[in-house]
Amino acid sequence: MAETILSNEPNHDTSETSKPTSKPQTSTESKRSLRRNRPGTKHEDAYQFPYISLEQIDSAFALQEYLQSLIRADKDNLDALVELPPGQDQETWQYEHLRQLCLELNYLVVQLEAECTRQSCPEMKADEWQYLCAAHQAPTNCCAIDYIVHTLDGATTLLNSHKYFPSRISIPETSLKHYQSIARRLYRIFAHAWFHHREIFEAFENENMLYARFLKLSDRYELIAKNLLIIPYNNNFDDSSNNDNHINHNNNCDDVLTPSME
Ligand SMILES: [Zn+2]
Ligand SMILES: [Zn+2]
Repeated sequence: MAETILSNEPNHDTSETSKPTSKPQTSTESKRSLRRNRPGTKHEDAYQFPYISLEQIDSAFALQEYLQSLIRADKDNLDALVELPPGQDQETWQYEHLRQLCLELNYLVVQLEAECTRQSCPEMKADEWQYLCAAHQAPTNCCAIDYIVHTLDGATTLLNSHKYFPSRISIPETSLKHYQSIARRLYRIFAHAWFHHREIFEAFENENMLYARFLKLSDRYELIAKNLLIIPYNNNFDDSSNNDNHINHNNNCDDVLTPSME
């Protein structure tokens, strides 16, 4: 945990590389320090912490660390990942999942940036649908990669907002409505990737199962209306060419092109 030390004391060594005055680390601090991704950690090395039970984690971020340890222990076990931990409430558990989704979606966006450009994708589309970006004063026709970055930034900012989410232990009732709008918009990132950058989607999904996890979360906690799920889903994604029979095109999709501003 980085601390800014303000000191007017003479002879205070302000060198950035100087060691702090030695203070014995408590076991909690040392445990926590081991459970952080250091700057520059490679994607495949990130979150490689040993599995620990929720009771073992003594931290304000216990639920996040617990979720991350579940993912690393067995990210294919979708039911276990979304199952509400004993003693937790649904709202905080969904909150941690959404935060984690935003964190990991950044890795997909990095992959997409290699081929999703203003030229290749001048509009945010997924199959026949087109979406306007809600990150602006008025819904804006951002190109796909801008939409994706703006939407992910917007979701991250909202989830980190002290106004709407002042505590990670208890979520205000009035903030719960944001879950569905966040989930619906983040879903479009996967949808764009699936319909327009299939190889990137599949390579990423085979490695991370992020879409499968998101879909399970959405299904379990009813975050996205079924008729908005336009990606033909296959559990293992290894035969994507034959999935088109599952496409559900529902024209009752009322926020396409006119996403509500919140
Ligand atoms: Zn694109
Ligand atoms: Zn935008």
